[in-house]
Amino acid sequence: MILKKIMGKIKAYAAQSAEAPLSDWSVERRSPKPHDVQLEILYCGVCHSDLHTVRNEWGGTKYPVVPGHEIVGRVTAVGDHVSKYKVGDLAGIGCMVDSCRECDNCKEGLEQYCSNGMVGTYNGMEKDGSGITYGGYSKQILAHEDFVLKIPENLPLEGVAPLLCAGITTYSPLRYWKVGKGDKVGVVGLGGLGHMGVKLAASMGAEVTMLSHSSKKEADANRLGASKFILTSDGKQVKSVKKYFDFILNTVSADHDYNLYLNMLKTNGVMVCVGVPFSPAKIPAGTLVGQRRSLAGSLIGGIPETQEMLDYCGAHNIVSDVEVIKMNEINEAYERMLKGDVRYRFVIDMVSL
Ligand code: NAP
Ligand code: ZN
Ligand code: ZN
Repeated sequence: MILKKIMGKIKAYAAQSAEAPLSDWSVERRSPKPHDVQLEILYCGVCHSDLHTVRNEWGGTKYPVVPGHEIVGRVTAVGDHVSKYKVGDLAGIGCMVDSCRECDNCKEGLEQYCSNGMVGTYNGMEKDGSGITYGGYSKQILAHEDFVLKIPENLPLEGVAPLLCAGITTYSPLRYWKVGKGDKVGVVGLGGLGHMGVKLAASMGAEVTMLSHSSKKEADANRLGASKFILTSDGKQVKSVKKYFDFILNTVSADHDYNLYLNMLKTNGVMVCVGVPFSPAKIPAGTLVGQRRSLAGSLIGGIPETQEMLDYCGAHNIVSDVEVIKMNEINEAYERMLKGDVRYRFVIDMVSL
């Protein structure tokens, strides 16, 4: 296989500080190593985690930061030892580009929980000491083939990109807690993660209720697969689902009161948080104790499960509902995302960079 020796400087969009808007930058990428797959990025989804990181809301952001971990593209080069991909294939990269591969979690395909720390697609540190990782708001990226995903050929690519984070982050807890027919599922927050949660839970046969603080999203929630809609600012509606759900998937990005939703769980019910607001939540033990409720969390999904999810979406014709934007519209897109004004995932068309 012919390789470009040094990929060198690649066009990208970066934030130089927590206060600065994202703007043109160029990122130094390594030349492909023997197991690397290099992609020309076609589409990259915009996750709320990108915004949290750019604005340093979780702390620890290393600037300049190039966000983006919902990446689909075409293979432009492969290393000598790559066996799973060839030039011209469609491929994807999600939230991780590496992990130790030796710990029990890695061996089980739970690389996201690597005991030695997985390497995030952006704002991570390369295991070989070569520096910080830069994500998908960029023309090209590369990763070890074990962290590259196969993309179903039958789906629109812009709708596939968000599956690499929003899709797997909602699929994984639904599978782990064995959600299916007969289960009453509540999804909190109709954004990027939430709309995938509704689609996936409905496709698995659950009865899905949308729990939203936006009154204008009811028709969309129904179209996506929810049979009920609860406006969480309406006390009467909230009361109607007291002790109602077997399982709640909480995707809310902002600080909020967890107790409102925990009280909607029936005996033995589980609320899984995938949203990661900044402040710690205050939960009286009694809320959990009274009905043997569980509060849990879940982080993306491992590589084998991400591939399983992509294949599942291919077989069931499931993609994200997207609004395609140009790279230079990203700062405005962040402001709209903060207002809950996205139907339901922004995806950057990388031709525009
Ligand atoms: P998003 O598209 O902005 O959606 C978040 C939704 O939360 C909004 O659409 C809104 O839905 C609801 N919301 C926002 N502010 C609220 C408030 N003050 N009170 C109640 N509801 C509110 O974000 P996203 O990309 O889906 O990400 C959601 C969260 O998940 C973020 O914190 C992100 O960092 C995190 N995340 C976690 C993982 C993981 O592995 N665990 C992976 C990806 C992302 P309504 O208008 O319907 O109320
Ligand atoms: Zn994400
Ligand atoms: Zn590991």
